[in-house]
Amino acid sequence: MANSVNPEDLEILPSPLLAVLNDLHSQYKSLNEGTLANYIPELAKVNPDLFSICIATVDGKIYQVGDYQQTFTIQSISKVFAYGLALEDHGRDYILTRVGVEPTGDAFNAIILDEPSKRPYNPMVNAGAIAITSLIKGSGPTERLNRVLEMFQRYTGQDALVDISVFTSERSTGHRNRAMAHLMLNFGMIDHNIEEALDLYFQQCAVMVNCPDLAVMAATLANKGINPVTGKQAVNNLYIKDILSVMYTCGMYNFAGEWAYKIGFPAKSGVCGGIMAVVPRKMGIAVFSPLLDVRGNSVRGVKVCEELSQRLQLHLFECSGED
Ligand code: GLN
Repeated sequence: MANSVNPEDLEILPSPLLAVLNDLHSQYKSLNEGTLANYIPELAKVNPDLFSICIATVDGKIYQVGDYQQTFTIQSISKVFAYGLALEDHGRDYILTRVGVEPTGDAFNAIILDEPSKRPYNPMVNAGAIAITSLIKGSGPTERLNRVLEMFQRYTGQDALVDISVFTSERSTGHRNRAMAHLMLNFGMIDHNIEEALDLYFQQCAVMVNCPDLAVMAATLANKGINPVTGKQAVNNLYIKDILSVMYTCGMYNFAGEWAYKIGFPAKSGVCGGIMAVVPRKMGIAVFSPLLDVRGNSVRGVKVCEELSQRLQLHLFECSGED
């Protein structure tokens, strides 16, 4: 791709920020609590010790430590970007008629819809994300997949590829997601072709990224939708506040309230062990560590973000620091 960026070429700076990341990496690498997402058979094979932390600033600087070249599947973090694409395709008003913006307080894979609207509660849980993905425009499955992959390329500046083993592993075992799709079909909240919608959902979840990719994607959301490395617009700035609002209130599932209270910036996790967080107008943060807590959030990822928030005074409602 003409405008792709080689990670080797990115500016890596020795700095106090890098020292903080190194410090957090050594502090938490011995934390081995949690379990792999073994409900997707391919994810049960991932090395649980992998650990990387990365920050990308809105002026395009990258700070990275640990296994930052390791790729992994983006999983639920993809929901953030699919939501942006659906907003661009249909506009805010229509999307709101299909998927709400209320936190559920339930697990990410809960089989629930809002009564009486029958909408999924929000686009960050599986039901809402499947409905959102079913709305992505295109003349057929290939064009829709290509549009999703091109969208990821705008955010990362890299080619986007689907991990076929993870995709087929989830497609052949994802009956819970299939059940949600059928429930939404029953209420007319999703189109008739649910297998196509599920395929695209499983494909978007299986897109491969590494920790710096995720940090650049987050920095793009922190930077009015402009990728700070390539300088290209990845998503219409009109929708940044919609995306960040649902990330803030719903992105960490049934930990979203405590996350907002303690850590205080929008974030999204995935069962791959990634957490992507956005500090608006400042930076994107990404952590990858596959061992998950009972809510499906990376154990080390939550700890690292909590410490980063405190040490760098990143909580959005922090009033005690300087500007
Ligand atoms: N592909 C996963 C699923 O649908 C994504 C879930 C997640 O990352 N929380 O179950």
